[in-house]
Amino acid sequence: MTSAASCAIATPMSTKLQPARGTRDMIGADARRHNAVADTARRIAGLYGFEEWFTPIFEDTRVFSRGLGDTSDVVSKEMYSFEDRGGESLTLRPENTAGVCRALVTNGLTQSLPQKAFYAGPMFRYERPQKGRYRQFHQIGCEILGAAEPLADAEVIAAGWHIIQTLGIAEGVVLEINTLGDAQSRDVYRAALVTYFSAHEEKLSTESRLRLEKNPLRILDSKDPADRELVAGAPLITDHLTPSAAAHYAAVLGYLAGFGVPLRENPRIVRGLDYYSHTAFEFVTDRLGSQGTVMAGGRYDGLVEEMGGPPTPSVGWAAGMERLALLMEDAKRTPRASRPIAVIPMIEAAERAALDVAQKLRAHGIPCDIAYRGNAKRRFERANRIGAPAAILIGQEEIEDGMFIVRDLKAGTQERVSLLGLPRTLSNAGSPEAAIASLVDIFDAGNLPPL
Ligand code: ATP
Ligand code: MG
Repeated sequence: MTSAASCAIATPMSTKLQPARGTRDMIGADARRHNAVADTARRIAGLYGFEEWFTPIFEDTRVFSRGLGDTSDVVSKEMYSFEDRGGESLTLRPENTAGVCRALVTNGLTQSLPQKAFYAGPMFRYERPQKGRYRQFHQIGCEILGAAEPLADAEVIAAGWHIIQTLGIAEGVVLEINTLGDAQSRDVYRAALVTYFSAHEEKLSTESRLRLEKNPLRILDSKDPADRELVAGAPLITDHLTPSAAAHYAAVLGYLAGFGVPLRENPRIVRGLDYYSHTAFEFVTDRLGSQGTVMAGGRYDGLVEEMGGPPTPSVGWAAGMERLALLMEDAKRTPRASRPIAVIPMIEAAERAALDVAQKLRAHGIPCDIAYRGNAKRRFERANRIGAPAAILIGQEEIEDGMFIVRDLKAGTQERVSLLGLPRTLSNAGSPEAAIASLVDIFDAGNLPPL
């Protein structure tokens, strides 16, 4: 007896099994949108010279949590961490930038910089699930490792914008950008923030009072309404920049204008972690309710060093694939399902011939579907259900004289044709299917081997 079977007997299931809270299945249109996001992003990133990296889905917890100063939500309360059987503390990756930086060091790539990494895959955060916010979600991301130049900031952003445009979801999406300055700018700024917030300490949320000591910049990121009111009057980083930090920011803005990326400066964008500096940005939309940030990124000049590598100035972004897919749905940009041609043996003896036809068509890249069972009527029903534009019917007569019946399933018309006439008939049926078009090409070019 298998263990699954014995389990089922021991604990009969009174309720149906559901996906774990905050996780979801992607089937049909959901899966097609998800794939379109990944495929488009991968292709566009390739145009900018990014190569895909695959890092493990779980890592040593220290890859994500590197010290007592980590007060970000992700590190302090959202991580899926567990001890494995060997007593190691492991964490399901909540994001992939840390993994990419760890991989850069592990693989000795700090010797050949810059590196341009693209990734797409699942991430895990223990947070309250809502539309566009899940516990297992997916990100695409681009990272340029080992480039301090403002052109790198601008180009990685331009690649992100290019992806958003190519997905057909650019309407209503805008780039918001800010600078966090360099370490020196931030020291001065941090002091200004402490002075300001200390004067209003009694109005701060408990959480932010804690941040005031550990990391006052994080208060700017607070979602608490009382905090937000105070934040509105807080000093701005842009008033505390060193000349070289100001020059970096100005250059990034200049290049972005050159790339044609529309943007809005937002001095309230911050990143709480110490390894961030200079450019910080988000692509936001008002179409996703409170989950309005679709892509977020910035410069993280100190992160590779925290992984034990040499100083490696880097910049990148990550985008939530579910949020991009929601925007595609909103913009009615769902890719169509592939609609295979149904191959229907009308009698049992025609099955062999039907398989031959199907394999020949598939060999030429034309999708075919063969129902495994049922009488002819059932098979037609299936052909209609899967949206087949046409069916190829094979009966006794057809086997004998090498003819096939092609039926246009939309118009209901049909024709009896020889194999050579088949493609012409399909195209005459007026279906726009690419499959049929390529079928015609193949036959016109005389490429299809005889049956
Ligand atoms: P938020 O403020 O929405 O929690 P964040 O600052 O935690 O976002 P990042 O860590 O910058 O997000 O991640 C980059 C992108 O990943 C976000 O802009 C968003 O599109 C997506 N994302 C983050 N968390 C989730 C989640 N739980 N479910 C779905 N997408 C997410
Ligand atoms: Mg978050």
